Amino acid sequence: MPDLPGGSVPPETIARVFQRIDALREDLVALTQRLVRFPTINPPGDAYEACARDIGDWLARHGAVVQLVRGEGEPDDTDLHPRMNVIGRFEAGQPGPCVHFNGHIDVVEAGLGWTVPPFEGVVKDGRVYGRGTCDMKGGIAAAMIAIEAILQEKALSCGAIELSGTVDEESGGFGGVGYLARQGYFNRDRVDHVIIPEPLNPDRVCLGHRGVWWAEIEMRGQIGHGAMPFLGVSAIRGMGHFLRLLEDELLPALGARVTRMPCVPAGARHATLNLNSIHGGQPEPFNGLPAPVVADRCRLVIDRRYLIEENPDEVRAEIIALLERAKAREAGLDFAVRDIMSFTPTMTEPEAPLVQTLDHWIEQLFGRPAEHVASPGTYDQKHITRFGAVRDCVAYGPGILDLAHQPDEWVGIDDMVMSAKVMAATTLCLLQGSGQPA
Ligand SMILES: [Zn+2]
Repeated sequence: MPDLPGGSVPPETIARVFQRIDALREDLVALTQRLVRFPTINPPGDAYEACARDIGDWLARHGAVVQLVRGEGEPDDTDLHPRMNVIGRFEAGQPGPCVHFNGHIDVVEAGLGWTVPPFEGVVKDGRVYGRGTCDMKGGIAAAMIAIEAILQEKALSCGAIELSGTVDEESGGFGGVGYLARQGYFNRDRVDHVIIPEPLNPDRVCLGHRGVWWAEIEMRGQIGHGAMPFLGVSAIRGMGHFLRLLEDELLPALGARVTRMPCVPAGARHATLNLNSIHGGQPEPFNGLPAPVVADRCRLVIDRRYLIEENPDEVRAEIIALLERAKAREAGLDFAVRDIMSFTPTMTEPEAPLVQTLDHWIEQLFGRPAEHVASPGTYDQKHITRFGAVRDCVAYGPGILDLAHQPDEWVGIDDMVMSAKVMAATTLCLLQGSGQPA
C-alpha cells in the first residue's frame, strides 16, 4: 500500500470486509428498496419522521447510539411536517478519528414520464428503480452496508463511525445538515472526515462546489402619466440600462474568469449569472385595461454563481457599481439590493487525507485513477465546512449524476457494491490515521 494517511490496515482485513460486502448484496438491494418506499417528497417534507426512525432503528440494531434531532424553528418545520433528522454513532471504545457518512433522505417530486411506480423500488436488469434511488438513498444504503461489513468483521478497532440521514437538502438543507452543524454535530472535536454519498458516479470524488449569491434588485423611478412619460422616470428603462451593462461588460467578464476547481460540466468552470425573474409595472396576472402610468418599480432576481478565486464582497460590489452607473443615466432613478441567500464556495484540497484515501481505493477497485470533480451548484457540504469547520469533506457515492431528478431514476447494484467497498476500505484506513489536517 502507498503512503496513505493512516493505512496500517492488514490487507487480509480489507479482503474479508470486501467478501462480506459481496455477501450482503441482497441486503443492500433490500435496504435501498426499503428507503425508497418512504415517499419523502420535498416540498412539503412527507414521511420524513417515518424514514428517519427506520434508519434510526437499523442503526440501533447494529449497536449505534442514536439520536433523532428535529430542525425546530427552521423553514417549513411544522408538527404536520417535522424536519426530522437521525444520527447514529458507533464507538470503538479506543481513541481515534471519526468518519461520518451524511445522506439526505428527501427527494424531489416524481413528476411525469415514469414507466415504473416511483416509490416501490422495482429491481430490473441489475438496477433498483425509483425516485431517490440515485439521489441518494442508494448511496445511504451503500454506506450502511459498508458499516455493517466493518462491524461484522469486528474491524472497528479505534475511533468512531457516524451515519446521519438528514432532510431538506433539496431546499437548502437548513432544517437538516445546517441545523445539525449549528448544534455542533459537525464540530472538529467530534468529526474528522465526512463523506456525503451523493450521486457523483462511483469512480469520481467531488471536492466541493461554487459559491452562490441570490439577490433581488429593485430599480425605482417616479410614477407619471403614460401619455406624458417625459414627466415620470421609468424604472423599467432604468433596469434596461443595468441589463445593457450586464450584457456588454459583466457577462463577458464572468465568462473570461476560469477556476482551478474541477467543475463539471466544464462550462461551470467560469463564473456565471442567471437572470431568474424580472417584473416591472402593473402587477401580474393582469386582466382588463392597463392604467396609463409610468412604472416606478422594476424588480430583478439574480442568481450569481462564483468561483473559489472570487471574493463574495467583490461579487456584490461589482453589481452595485453597475447599478450606480445605470442610476447615473437619469435623474430620479434609484435602486435597492436585497440579499436573499449566500454561500461561499468550498473545496477540499486534493491532498487532503480523505481525498487521497478515496483515490487509492477507487483506483484499486476500478483499475483506473479516480476523477476529481466539483459541483456547479451547492449541496450540504456548505453547512459542514462553514458551521462545523470540518475541512476534510467530499461527496462520493454510487449513483450516476445525470439520472438525479429524472423520470425512471435508478441506481446500479454493482455500482452500489463497488462504492460500499470504497467507503469501507477508506473508513478503515482513515480510522488508523491521526485525523483531519490542521
Ligand atoms: Zn442529492
